[in-house]
Amino acid sequence: ADSAGRVHPEPPQPFRSPYQRDHDRIVHSAAFRRLAHKTQVFTGYQGDYHRSRLTHTLEVTGIARTLGRSLALNEDLVETLALAHDIGHPPLGHAGEDTLDELLADEGGFNHNAQALRIMELLETRYPDFPGLNLSREILDAQAARVKGRAAAAIRPATAPLLETQVVDAADSIAYDTHDADDAIELDFVTLEELLELPIVAEAARRTAERYGELAGTDRRRGVIHELVDMQVADLITTSRAEIVRLGIGSVDQVRAHAGAAGQASRLVAHSPAVSRGKAELERFLFQRVYRSDRVMTVRLAAQEKLTRLFRWYCDHPDAMPPRFRQRAGAVGARRSVADYIGGMTDRYLEWDHARRVC
Ligand code: MG
Repeated sequence: ADSAGRVHPEPPQPFRSPYQRDHDRIVHSAAFRRLAHKTQVFTGYQGDYHRSRLTHTLEVTGIARTLGRSLALNEDLVETLALAHDIGHPPLGHAGEDTLDELLADEGGFNHNAQALRIMELLETRYPDFPGLNLSREILDAQAARVKGRAAAAIRPATAPLLETQVVDAADSIAYDTHDADDAIELDFVTLEELLELPIVAEAARRTAERYGELAGTDRRRGVIHELVDMQVADLITTSRAEIVRLGIGSVDQVRAHAGAAGQASRLVAHSPAVSRGKAELERFLFQRVYRSDRVMTVRLAAQEKLTRLFRWYCDHPDAMPPRFRQRAGAVGARRSVADYIGGMTDRYLEWDHARRVC
C-alpha cells in the first residue's frame, strides 16, 4: 500500500500485490532465464555439479525469504529483489564484467548492478506501451543502491536501503561464501581439511560432529556446508533483531532515517563481530585459492580475449546485431549498444557466436 508506484501508471491487479507482479515480471524475463547458462565462478565446462547464476539466485532467494520472514519484512518484496539481484551479469561472470568495464572506460564503464537497472528500465521489451518491465519504484531503488564503482555517482538514490534490500545483500553473501567453498572442494581446488583451518569452518564441523558423530568424506562435507549456512542465518537473524529492537525501529521511515544518518557502514541487518570476522577470513581464502588461482585465471584470460574480439567485431559490424540493438546504437552510441547486446548473451552463446563471427 505504501509503494511509490510505477513510472508508467498501470491499473491495480485483482489477484496479486504490486511486488508479486514484479516477481512474475522478473521470472518471465529473458534476462532471468539466461542466468541458467551464465557463469557464477567457474567458466568453461567443468562438470555440472557447481552453481550457475540461476541456482545461485535460487539459493539466495531461499535464504533471503527465511531472513525476511524471521524479521517480519515484506516477503514478496524480499523474494523479488533476490530473484532480480544478478540479472545484470554479462557472460563469464566477473571476468566478463571487468572486460566490458575496460572496453567502456571512456563511456561510464560497465557494472552488473547498473546493467540490471538498464534491463529493468529499458532492455527487456515485453509490453507494447512502455520499454522495460515497469517495476515498482522500490525494486529500482534497491537495485540502484547496489551499484558501486564508476557507475555509482550517476545512479545511487539519496534514500538509504530498505531492510528488504539489506536482507538480500546479506543472503547473497551467505550463499556465495558457502557454495563457493562447496564447489571448490568438489572441483579439487581445495580440500575440506584445508578449509577446516579457518575458525568459522572448524566451528561448523564441531557442530556437525555434535549432531551426527564423526562423519567422513562427502557426508562430512555436506554436513559442514549445511551447518555453515545455518550458523550464518541464525547469527544474522539474532544480531539484526537485537539491533532493530535496541534502536526502537518500527517503521520504514525510521529505517531510512537511521541508515541515512549512519551510511553504508552501519546497516541494521548485520552479522555479529565474530561471524563477520569468520566470513572475511573465508572470503580471503577463497579469493587466493579459487578466484585468483592459476586454473581459474588461465580460463578467465582466454574467455576475456574472446569477449574482447567479439565486442570489436560488432563495433565494426553493428548491422549484424538484432534490429532493436542496431536502432539503439543511434541514441546511446554503438559501443554501449554492443555492450548491451553482448551483456545479454549466455556463456555458451558467446562461445558459439565467437566461433561464427570471429574465427
Ligand atoms: Mg549474487
